Amino acid sequence: MQHKNGNSRSRRSWAEPYKIKMVEPIKLTTREQREKAIAAAGYNTFLLRSDDVYIDLLTDSGTNAMSDNQWAGMLLGDESYAGSRNFDHLQDAITKYYGYKHTIPTHQGRGAEHILSMLTIRDGDSIPGNMYFTTTRMHQELAGGHFVDVIIDEAHTPSSQHPFKGNIDLDKLQSVIDEVGVVHIPYLCMHATVNMAGGQPISMANMRAASKLCHDQNIPVYLDATRAVENAYFIKTREEGFENTSIADILKEMCSYSDGCTMSGKKDCLVNIGGFLALNDDELADRARNECVIYEGLHTYGGMAGRDMEAMARGIEESVSYDHLHARIGQVVYLGEQLLAAGVPIVEPIGGHGVFVDARRFLPHLTQEQFPAQALAAALYVDSGVRGMERGAVSAGRDPDTGENRKSRLELVRLTLPRRVYTQAHMDVTAESVIDLFEKRDRIRGLAFSYEPDHLRFFRARFNPIGGKQILDDSPFSTQSKSLSDTAKI
Ligand SMILES: *Cc1c(COP(=O)(O)O)cnc(C)c1O
Repeated sequence: MQHKNGNSRSRRSWAEPYKIKMVEPIKLTTREQREKAIAAAGYNTFLLRSDDVYIDLLTDSGTNAMSDNQWAGMLLGDESYAGSRNFDHLQDAITKYYGYKHTIPTHQGRGAEHILSMLTIRDGDSIPGNMYFTTTRMHQELAGGHFVDVIIDEAHTPSSQHPFKGNIDLDKLQSVIDEVGVVHIPYLCMHATVNMAGGQPISMANMRAASKLCHDQNIPVYLDATRAVENAYFIKTREEGFENTSIADILKEMCSYSDGCTMSGKKDCLVNIGGFLALNDDELADRARNECVIYEGLHTYGGMAGRDMEAMARGIEESVSYDHLHARIGQVVYLGEQLLAAGVPIVEPIGGHGVFVDARRFLPHLTQEQFPAQALAAALYVDSGVRGMERGAVSAGRDPDTGENRKSRLELVRLTLPRRVYTQAHMDVTAESVIDLFEKRDRIRGLAFSYEPDHLRFFRARFNPIGGKQILDDSPFSTQSKSLSDTAKI
């Protein structure tokens, strides 16, 4: 069977296109230590101390390993307050690979989202987009707007095999425009890839069509380019006509369908901190620089040290290498395929930056109010010291108008792979633990809030297990066994 990413299922023909020059020891813990640690963290993996974590798959954000060339660049940091030469290098790299005219550096992606939202959104506006992202939507709402999801329906169905589940539903998009009127749509927010859908890509054809639809009606398009390079890899390997196009050329064409982008450099750009807002419009860029000076720092550093900008400029260059992406996404596929082979329900096709376990199907004995994904992430940590994160009802938060919990259709545990950090052996350990838990899934308890923050609650919320002391019991609890056996075959 031809594999979606170009590998055959049984072949392990690639190895990491780098060798290891420095190591960071990680700690092995006992189950007892982990039970204590997760209880102290309120069953929220965000609140664990990283010293207590064995394999950290919490996020791919800022967790990348830099190359020797990037570290060398760190020593060439020009730490002048104004006009650092590293800013020029960064701006040149962005113009060369992303194609935008102006770069406004920011401390990270949300800094760029803040500036763009403040400048473009007016009270009562609607911002259509291919699925929300937590910080993106937060800034849109703080600016007085509200986000409207126009992603295709397949994105909400974890088992759908659609190769471009990040696509925009053009009919949904046009309906939103018709409903609220062009003047109340500040821009289309186009994500590539779509983080909350499981790192699913958007196709070039869809970007082109959505962009045309908007531009024909004078609606700007802004790209969330956080993982656009990974998206480019999917276009190259899945979309007809791009087999022989370079990643760099694909990326350039993708960006050409937008008027600018917000960027979290902590992902694709292979660095640990930083971001940028890139724009083509001179006047808007000028206003963005004014906001940057207020909220981020001078417009030639925006919260980043000179050395950070140099590392990012070099990281951008490395990020568009096909060999890098083939190994990076290949590692995600390697983990995902082990889980699939064992019957563990995951989001398919396997996405770009992580494997998303479908906690709803994994833990059918829990209702969504018992936060199955949060519970599964906590249980996984207890089982093996692997840290993942919840992407479900807790992350979705409450509706700001009604105060009700948002009903997220997806209830996922994200196992996110830092770039160039772990080996295939780490993936084997992770897969074994998830598969083991799947066999004893009827021992995992649900969770109830003991503390709920007002904003972005998933970061700092605390929980208690429902009906028992441990999140993961030594034996199945008797009341659950019936409903489990009904749904045991998934
Ligand atoms: C991480 C992320 C952001 C926010 O960037 P930060 O650097 O964390 O502030 C925005 N959009 C997407 C899709 C992301 O993954």
